[in-house]
Amino acid sequence: MLNARAESIFSKFGLPVDPQAVAVGGKWSKGRGNELTVRSPVDATPIASLTMATSDQVAEAIAAAQEAFVRWRIVPAPVRGELVRQIGQSLRSQKSNLAELVSWEMGKIMQEALGEVQEMIDVCDFAVGLSRQLYGKTIASERPLHRLAEQWHPLGPVGVISAFNFPVAVWAWNAMIALVCGDPVVWKPSEKAPLSALACHGIASRVAAEMPEAPEGLLSLLIGDAEVGKAIADAPGLPLVSATGSVPMGRDVAVRVASRLGRSLLELGGNNGMIVAPSADFELATRSILFAAVGTCGQRCTSLRRLYVHESIADQLTDALRSLYGKLPIGDPMREGILVGPLIDEPAFVAMQAALATAREQGGAVFGGDRVVDDVPQGGYYVRPAIVEIQADAAIVQQETFAPILYVMRYEDLSQAIAMHNGVPQGLASAILTNDVREAELFCSPAGSDCGIVNVNIGTSGAEIGGAFGGEKETGGGRESGSDAWKAYMRRSTNTINYSRDLPLAQGIQFDL
Ligand code: NAD
Repeated sequence: MLNARAESIFSKFGLPVDPQAVAVGGKWSKGRGNELTVRSPVDATPIASLTMATSDQVAEAIAAAQEAFVRWRIVPAPVRGELVRQIGQSLRSQKSNLAELVSWEMGKIMQEALGEVQEMIDVCDFAVGLSRQLYGKTIASERPLHRLAEQWHPLGPVGVISAFNFPVAVWAWNAMIALVCGDPVVWKPSEKAPLSALACHGIASRVAAEMPEAPEGLLSLLIGDAEVGKAIADAPGLPLVSATGSVPMGRDVAVRVASRLGRSLLELGGNNGMIVAPSADFELATRSILFAAVGTCGQRCTSLRRLYVHESIADQLTDALRSLYGKLPIGDPMREGILVGPLIDEPAFVAMQAALATAREQGGAVFGGDRVVDDVPQGGYYVRPAIVEIQADAAIVQQETFAPILYVMRYEDLSQAIAMHNGVPQGLASAILTNDVREAELFCSPAGSDCGIVNVNIGTSGAEIGGAFGGEKETGGGRESGSDAWKAYMRRSTNTINYSRDLPLAQGIQFDL
């Protein structure tokens, strides 16, 4: 059940205004599990209540997806691309309504919510092109009149578990690529942002219902908590589980999927660093740091958390950042001009305060970080983003706190800065700001950043969909979205074709009676 405002936003999609927690294609049904109250982080008011899915309902959706797979895998890939093209068109026409819902439900500012919806549209466009480019290689055979070839085939139903902070884009990265690859999708969004998921599923499944080639169980949605996620990870009917979220979640999913010898694609926490060299363009540095560190109120997996500044410019840069942080417009994320919205909920605020207390104990000097209560909607957890000047070996710097805390540290030479930068367990996004081409190239080289995303003269966040997205070490190693990330959603078959009348064996083996 939605409250009145949620109902009015929802009705703009032309979808039923009493969405249920379980959907297999366009068929909605009530969850048979526990009650879930959904709150907007803007002012903590309850905006919806739903009964969550159970593990039985997970099994039912997977059975429908398996049935759908048998039909969908033989639909020509460019026809599958046509479905994704139409989904993209539908998302395009709903861009501002979807952004409004994302902003209200997740708390990111409208500009960033519009950007997130645009990411869905972009990945649809990318996937449409990809649907005609699922290329395999032809390989020279060592045997006469033989041909070796690779084919990429659909893999099977894909389970997608997504985090609260990108409530719609992560689904699209996975689902649109999976669909053109010939795979049905079973999606469990974050229980903290289910309405955005209900809207996206409703839009996509309405488009699919109009296409005769698209079977009913092609797309399904299960609103639920970690228990539903675990049921997805455990299900042998899902050969691939793509999971986005925290490192502890990823560890659990990885073990569950591995124990049944399935594939997992993990997009986990980041603890992203930037090096600011003496030659850096100062104005560009402050702007890129600001967007990366305080955008989405520090709740992006790629948010900038660690800044290594050359000692010759450290005082000047820290002063400039303090002055900018002091002026940040904080408040209702849906209001024009606001740059920092709320944290998702009270536990996020408590975790931020605990990290700041630990940083102080470990010798950090904290600027900001306090709760903001004036000129903001009451009930939400609004904070002034924090800058913490601290020694690089402080233990707190090793961990991701999902809040706007920027640790500022100093370095003397670049090799030391790179070593400090790489000396954390996570490996998602990184950046160097420099006008020295040697420094930039070193940072991008095998001896440089050990992350999946390595930027020069831009911040750590705000990736484009055309590249493969993901990170190393505890970030999980998965790659999603662009480049050849599609290969994770398909299985490769190697064909050897003999068009001779002989049977020469590989490696010259003789085996004659
Ligand atoms: P979370 O780990 O609490 O939850 C993520 C999802 O996993 C939710 O849908 C949740 O219900 C589910 N889940 C939780 N425990 C599970 C389990 N044991 N088995 C199966 N499913 C389980 O994360 P969150 O608070 O929603 O999101 C923030 C975290 O996500 C941060 O660490 C952030 O860095 C990370 N993140 C990473 C990326 C990336 O691409 N690398 C993108 C977005 C967010």
